Amino acid sequence: MGQFAVIGLGRFGSAASLELMRLGHSVIGVDINPKIINQMADQLTLAAIADATDEHALKDLNITACDAVLVAIGESLEASILCVLQLKSMNIKEIWVKATSRPHHTILSRIGVSRIIHPEEEMGMKVAQSLNYPMVNQYMAIGYNLYVVEITITDKCQGIAIEELLKETEHSIKPLLVQRNKDIFTPVKLDFVLESGDSLVLAGTLNILKTIAPRLA
Ligand code: ATP
Repeated sequence: MGQFAVIGLGRFGSAASLELMRLGHSVIGVDINPKIINQMADQLTLAAIADATDEHALKDLNITACDAVLVAIGESLEASILCVLQLKSMNIKEIWVKATSRPHHTILSRIGVSRIIHPEEEMGMKVAQSLNYPMVNQYMAIGYNLYVVEITITDKCQGIAIEELLKETEHSIKPLLVQRNKDIFTPVKLDFVLESGDSLVLAGTLNILKTIAPRLA
């Protein structure tokens, strides 16, 4: 079980903190608005009314013991940056911050935080990708333009071997695993015969992965 703090319990921060709780972690939620804290109080490990730009208020909350802190203050650039500076001066290593604008992103990257999140843009891209490739359930960027994608095998690919699906791309796309109901097949060989409903997880560059999309549906 991990211990996290979420600062700013708007739509983004409250959704993140409730999901962390659901995943079995301990969550300290912080917001300057007493109404929000009252609403969240019985759903989090600890919910505290505090101004996150105030060093003393943060120290009182024992935030230094957390594995990571998510700063989800949106509208006020000043409050977000001041809060991050306080966390850095408290020597907190893992700081994830929601950014709402380009200048916000630039300042955060200059200060140096573990991860800058752009929820609207990231979700917009995911939705567009899902509309474009409905058979792709999940994808994750792992850097250097490489992606891991999970694909649901449709009737069109029933009974074909992975090597046929990956024809002419075998050197650039790696099959990582196949999930069939409760069974996981890994490592998975190129002669593995796919069935409709299988989940196939592949790794490769986005450009090459796109070339096999027409074979999938
Ligand atoms: P969302 O889209 O997640 O709803 P948002 O981007 O509109 O949020 P805000 O509503 O401005 O952003 O901020 C998110 C939360 O952060 C709010 O609940 C707000 O009360 C809280 N907040 C703002 N400033 C501070 C601060 N200095 N200390 C603690 N919490 C703060």
